[in-house]
Amino acid sequence: MTSQNAAENGKMNVAIDGPAGAGKSTVARRVASKLSYVYVDTGAMYRAVTYYMLRHEIEPEEVDTVLTHIKNLEIELIPDESGQKVFLNGEDVSGPIRSREVTGIVSMYSQIEELRSHLVEMQREMALRKGVVMDGRDIGTTVLPDAEVKIFMTASVRERALRRFKELEKTEDLTLEQLERDIAARDKLDQEREVSPLRQAEDAIVLDTTSMSIDEVVEHIVTRCMDVRGDVGL
Ligand code: C5P
Repeated sequence: MTSQNAAENGKMNVAIDGPAGAGKSTVARRVASKLSYVYVDTGAMYRAVTYYMLRHEIEPEEVDTVLTHIKNLEIELIPDESGQKVFLNGEDVSGPIRSREVTGIVSMYSQIEELRSHLVEMQREMALRKGVVMDGRDIGTTVLPDAEVKIFMTASVRERALRRFKELEKTEDLTLEQLERDIAARDKLDQEREVSPLRQAEDAIVLDTTSMSIDEVVEHIVTRCMDVRGDVGL
């Protein structure tokens, strides 16, 4: 399903993985826009499921109940000028899925194997026709192992916490140290889970963005995409 399908419409798939707060979504969105590709934020899908479960008071330990409910969930990612809106059964949940409550527990739900297979299937379907920039934790390893370009973006925990800190609303009463602890805890859960843990694909390009600007990272990835395009004759 690699170059042959890609050649059909002249497009390829780009996988961007990495830990929390590495800047994946900003970068992925901009790369997609430069290539006129579709951006898919898979973290938003895990967040939407988490938001639903919290609202229905279903704990991550209640695996059977979680699985019964996910069959009734319709998650839509709709591109718009702010990047992407997330709809859950027709309701716009783009704001609430970013709450600290959801962020604090999403990694618990995302350990559930069958929940992951369900979302992975949806993600693969989105990428079937190529022309997708998808970001997450397991895109290059599990979701799209044949993606033509794979990037693993990282940055130090301190730098990632600092970036989050700068984005915080004035109303949010969080210290840099709290953010650092939250990020480190989420990294640990994502890296140590049994199913599709966060890790770089062997054929991924590793970008440590600690001292890189967003523009530099975007430029780097777009250049890589252009090179690969030339290599596979697109
Ligand atoms: O990317 P974001 O920080 O929004 O992801 C939220 C959480 O969703 C991650 O911490 C991780 O637990 C889960 N996730 C995942 N696999 C993905 C994307 C996100 O397990 N492909």
